Amino acid sequence: MNDIITKHVDQDVPSKKKKKKKKKSKVQKIQDQKDKHPMLPSCSCKKKCAERIPEDLRKEIHNLFWQHDYNERLDWLHSKRAPRAN
Ligand SMILES: [Zn+2]
Repeated sequence: MNDIITKHVDQDVPSKKKKKKKKKSKVQKIQDQKDKHPMLPSCSCKKKCAERIPEDLRKEIHNLFWQHDYNERLDWLHSKRAPRAN
């Protein structure tokens, strides 16, 4: 609802001033990404991942991961993916 109202108002206002695009800082972008992709709770499998990988380390990895841009993250994921067997 708010969006519709805002757009309508925007159109009616004579646009002498150029709209300032809100530039997001890199830090803000990273924060957005992390908000969109919150760290998942650790699994509870037989390998005792939660015990082996402390919460602090998980957070650190999560932070590092989201500091990279989209392509870097894709590359990283591909590099970690096991090659298909056939
Ligand atoms: Zn596990």
